[in-house]
Amino acid sequence: MLKKIILSFCLGLSNVAIAKSVALSFDDGLDPSINSEAQQINEDILSTLKENKIHAIVYPSISKIGGTEGLNIISNWGKQGHRIGNHGNLHINLNKNEVNLSHYLQDMQQGHQVFSSIEGFVPRYRFPFLKEGNTLEKRDGVRKWLSTHNYQSGAVSIDASDWYYNQLFLKYQQQKDQASLDKLKQAYIFHLLDRAKYYDDLAVQTLGRSPKHVLLLHVRAINAAWLEDIIYSFKTESWEFIDSDTAYQDTIYKIQPNLLPAGESIVWNIAQIYGVKNLRYPAEDAPYEYLNLAKHGLNIEN
Ligand SMILES: [Zn+2]
Repeated sequence: MLKKIILSFCLGLSNVAIAKSVALSFDDGLDPSINSEAQQINEDILSTLKENKIHAIVYPSISKIGGTEGLNIISNWGKQGHRIGNHGNLHINLNKNEVNLSHYLQDMQQGHQVFSSIEGFVPRYRFPFLKEGNTLEKRDGVRKWLSTHNYQSGAVSIDASDWYYNQLFLKYQQQKDQASLDKLKQAYIFHLLDRAKYYDDLAVQTLGRSPKHVLLLHVRAINAAWLEDIIYSFKTESWEFIDSDTAYQDTIYKIQPNLLPAGESIVWNIAQIYGVKNLRYPAEDAPYEYLNLAKHGLNIEN
């Protein structure tokens, strides 16, 4: 009996000691001809990653970065040891009825042509909006393209709504509303940690283990400003940062769920397969954040 208690105690301790692991991924990129801060935002994110010795992956989309100058900015990721994947050309939502397979494949191919020659490129494709097809033909057609081109899906396990918090960040910044920015920072970090815990708990509940996670973020001003705080907060909550190649070796990223519409976080897909109740769709979206923002003193009118 005593032996059993000691064993349980040791197992308990070892569970505590093993940190949860996460790789950072950043989508889209910015077009310097539209956003005058594009280069600075990119540099700030890269310098925080460097200071923290974290290697991440960026998934640029041609339409989001614009022309040659935008491509040069994104190329700095590869030069600094990060991975560069493919996020297509026109940032198309595959689940829209008007989007057909051949047009979508052409868009992926265009992304491949531009990004595959850059230092640091890896054949990983990040689906825009995490939408992987609303018909069998589209879903399986894209999966076939990925397999034929030796591509891996640049899947996400921790989905979040940084793009929405960024909209608020830009609004308060423009209004020079420091009080709201301070509240937003707390709300944003709480949101990211909350989503990380949510998806990790969902994985443990279904698979019985904590997988190597991939967190979805974007190359945006909010992350240039607060990435250091995000990293610090995750470390405080026992998260360990790993590089994207290590994360994508986890077998959960080999799963091709037989679901329609396809997409969202891979952990969310697994939860669906396991019959977990009350999963919202889409998994993450702006309206879900109103409550968290209100709790942090920001009442969003809508
Ligand atoms: Zn995107």
